[in-house]
Amino acid sequence: MNDKKINILISKDQINERIEQLGTEISKDYLGKKLYVLSLLRGSFIYTADLVRQITVPTKIGFMTTSSYGDDEESKGLVNIVNDIPDNISGFDVLIVDDIVDTGLTMDFVVNHAKSLGAASVKTCVLLNKVERRKVEISPDYYCFEIPDLFVVGYGLNYGDYYRNIPYIFNWED
Ligand code: 5GP
Ligand code: MG
Repeated sequence: MNDKKINILISKDQINERIEQLGTEISKDYLGKKLYVLSLLRGSFIYTADLVRQITVPTKIGFMTTSSYGDDEESKGLVNIVNDIPDNISGFDVLIVDDIVDTGLTMDFVVNHAKSLGAASVKTCVLLNKVERRKVEISPDYYCFEIPDLFVVGYGLNYGDYYRNIPYIFNWED
């Protein structure tokens, strides 16, 4: 990968601008509600950190880690809880934050999980919406950018455990 040319798809400035807009929108929508931001690790840690600093209503923040099985089993929709939600979210308006919705299996699983724990409402907020690869019908309530079917890296998204710290979104040219 290292000798390939990189292609910056979304710059740091573009990300910051969209997050500011989303933060304003979320702050309006959650006025008077009991917002609980549920951030999915590890991919969304940077996005969450930037997003919550643009939210002006009282906000609780918790983290959860899931894993999905290999390709074969992924198609069966198997998602695993590695670390569960650390708080009682019953009665909270839960906003699930993730880096990307791809097949949608992870988000679909976490939405149902939060509902089963008695959340008053459950909405979803992602940085990237990769619509072409969806396997379950789910569309994020909030997202920053729609992207085509490319494997992207940076701003929290990894390749082989690296590149999460790169401040923009990129892919490698073929
Ligand atoms: P799902 O297929 O369940 O919607 O997405 C599950 C996870 O796959 C995402 O949270 C993300 O960690 C990973 N993923 C999906 N598409 C990409 C991508 O283009 N780049 C990277 N780095 N991870 C991705
Ligand atoms: Mg992820």
